[in-house]
Amino acid sequence: MKVRFLGTGTSTGNPEIGCRCEVCTSTDEKDRRFRSSILIEIDGKHILIDCGPDFRMQILEVFKTDSFEKWDGVLITHEHYDHVGGLDDLRPFCRNEAVDIYAEDYVVRTIKSRISYVFEEHKYPGLPNIRISPVPNKSFSIKGIEINPVRLMHGKLPIFGYRIGKLAYLTDLKTIPDEEYAKLEDLEVLIINALRESEHISHETIDDALKNIERIKPARAYLTHVSHHFGLHEKRQKMLPDHVFIAYDGLEIYV
Ligand SMILES: [Zn+2]
Ligand SMILES: [Zn+2]
Repeated sequence: MKVRFLGTGTSTGNPEIGCRCEVCTSTDEKDRRFRSSILIEIDGKHILIDCGPDFRMQILEVFKTDSFEKWDGVLITHEHYDHVGGLDDLRPFCRNEAVDIYAEDYVVRTIKSRISYVFEEHKYPGLPNIRISPVPNKSFSIKGIEINPVRLMHGKLPIFGYRIGKLAYLTDLKTIPDEEYAKLEDLEVLIINALRESEHISHETIDDALKNIERIKPARAYLTHVSHHFGLHEKRQKMLPDHVFIAYDGLEIYV
């Protein structure tokens, strides 16, 4: 399985508009971050996790060296705009058949109310052809690929992370309920959010993420959904344990 990081930034993206801090003005490409999302290629199939407002630019970037015509599934972690704001831009992938989106029950409802024109009975031509299904709180399959949802808490908001084989993608969490750790055993790669050093009400700090990595014990871990308060990529990387890496946009890893 190949994983490509389409975006690794927090909700504002990096640089944050108008900010002159050292991260926002850095000339290192690794400090420029679209909103968080990954593309997974497995057995010739394409799975997207989250479809944020940068989706169009992210896919144009991918298509400089690659191209494919359809998504086999789009998994949504939660309803926040930085994770769903690009759904309308799935249009070019809907020409021949509907794109299947999976989200938990209440997220299905919020998506339907936010882009209600997409789900009207009598659609006008050119609308995205999207089929949206609820994710059960247990493993399910997308075209033979087993998907294991993992319950996470984004502050007080229940959201999903996803485990696929030896990979887990856990973003926007503050805490993981104790009983969920059993689903995270024996991972080769853990991708987990780490916002910044200082406390945040609904996101892990860098320390919180390192503690979870310590407890889950994946062979390798990648930090994502980072803010401009995270520090410069190059400097921060030197402060991390050997098996913990900061993800950056365009990074490709194999699991
Ligand atoms: Zn987010
Ligand atoms: Zn969020």
